[in-house]
Amino acid sequence: MMDEPVCLVLAVNATYCLLAIIVQIIQKIVFGKLRSIEYQHMRDKFWNFVFYKFIFIFGVMNVQSLNEVLVWMSWFTCIAFLLLLTKLCKDRFEYLSFSPNTPMYYHWKVLGLLVFIISCCLLLTVSCLTSSLIDMHSMTFMLAECVIVTTKALHVIMRYGIHLYDIQHEDLWERKATLVYHVDLFMELLTLSTNFLHHLHMLFSGNIWLSMASLVICMQLRYIFSEIQKRLLRHKNYRRVVANMEAQFPQASREEIEAQEDQCAICWEPMENARKLPCGHFFHSACLRSWLEQDTTCPTCRKQLDIRNTIRRDRPARLVPDGLNDPRAVLNPTVGVVQHRNHFWHFDGPRFASWLPSFSVEVTSLTTTTGMPTNQPSNSQLDTMVREVHDIFPQVPLQVIRNDLQITGSVEATTDNILEGHVTIPTNPRLSTLPQTPPPTNEDDQSNFQIQTASTSMLLSLAFSIPLLTPPVATTSVQSTSSGVPTIGGHFSKAPQEREQVLKDRRMELLRQARLKYLN
Ligand SMILES: [Zn+2]
Ligand SMILES: [Zn+2]
Repeated sequence: MMDEPVCLVLAVNATYCLLAIIVQIIQKIVFGKLRSIEYQHMRDKFWNFVFYKFIFIFGVMNVQSLNEVLVWMSWFTCIAFLLLLTKLCKDRFEYLSFSPNTPMYYHWKVLGLLVFIISCCLLLTVSCLTSSLIDMHSMTFMLAECVIVTTKALHVIMRYGIHLYDIQHEDLWERKATLVYHVDLFMELLTLSTNFLHHLHMLFSGNIWLSMASLVICMQLRYIFSEIQKRLLRHKNYRRVVANMEAQFPQASREEIEAQEDQCAICWEPMENARKLPCGHFFHSACLRSWLEQDTTCPTCRKQLDIRNTIRRDRPARLVPDGLNDPRAVLNPTVGVVQHRNHFWHFDGPRFASWLPSFSVEVTSLTTTTGMPTNQPSNSQLDTMVREVHDIFPQVPLQVIRNDLQITGSVEATTDNILEGHVTIPTNPRLSTLPQTPPPTNEDDQSNFQIQTASTSMLLSLAFSIPLLTPPVATTSVQSTSSGVPTIGGHFSKAPQEREQVLKDRRMELLRQARLKYLN
């Protein structure tokens, strides 16, 4: 009878009606009325799921027969059911955990549902493994789906466990934030990497190259990869912040905390253990850590916390192009050229499709020891940065700027270092040779030159920093320039040199006004 199409449609319809009733009952018992954000999440997740699974069934698996379509549809219905319920539990947990006087049985209902989801996943896994009808590829796909749903449900259960343990205990649990962070990190990375492998498997299993499905899967892979990258970057930042905090802000003693007679300004809870900032303000370690992940000032008085030195030690060259830090870089003394690691990339076309070609690309980075680029466009980013700083400080040798940039990796930080005198400038002028810029002859010309060649982004900071360092020199030089030009602007000249001159003079005038305003 099931071979009749009408009967089949009726059976499928009846199954979906039954499932809808079950979902309604679960929703009524466990969640009650859904909040609008929960509805929104359900809708988004559902249509996303339908879209990707449609691509999977017809694009990746290339299902032809009606029976196979039915098998996959019922499988994905189960998975969608479990996945949506997990998402709902997660949303509800986040909502309930923020309201401290939620009755306990609300929590137990959600937890019970999560346990039910995990048992369903286990059941599906077992039936998958024991079934003799499914081939190896399909089984791996199905198992990956089960693992993803189980991991997500387990994650919510673990978070729930931590939360319930915390609300059962009256006193503040200092290590809760650290534990939550590491649970989140581990479970999120586990889900993301399983998902990544699952998609890679999809891409390589079927013969789907250069099809719409492969494009969609590649986009999805790219998205998952960027998510993993973001998560790892965040973790790097977290570790840096923790190391900084432990090194620089000591634990306050009990007497100090009692003398303070204050609550933590971040969470408004009383303090038993706290860290002390140089400005004299106290915070919980966990609160301070999550604050420092976003900001480097004191939460109470906004005093800038000096954590730059440690950052510099931790990340010696964030923006330095690949190869400069490479210990394998070899110095060739005869030609004064540093040869860096070669980048070798090989594409094996026939491995994927018989008609695709094979080819290799090899890139070698070369830089002279004087810091100037060879005819190959290598290390261009660092060179640009060196030139930018040298334009501002022509008296500082290129090699000195380059060395500092390799440490800081930022034009602003190096500029600060030079202005604050952290950079030692040797007296030997031979090192400072830049072909495009003539060397300054005296102190007066030098400050003039600094202003003229300053890039627009640095204009403002120079206008304020030069009077602080050498007020008489800078002021006289600009005054002498502006006094030589009685009228600025007024008409639009046709000669480009004249227009440039007018613009330069205008800039001088603006700088002079800003400086006067600052000094008064
Ligand atoms: Zn706190
Ligand atoms: Zn403070």
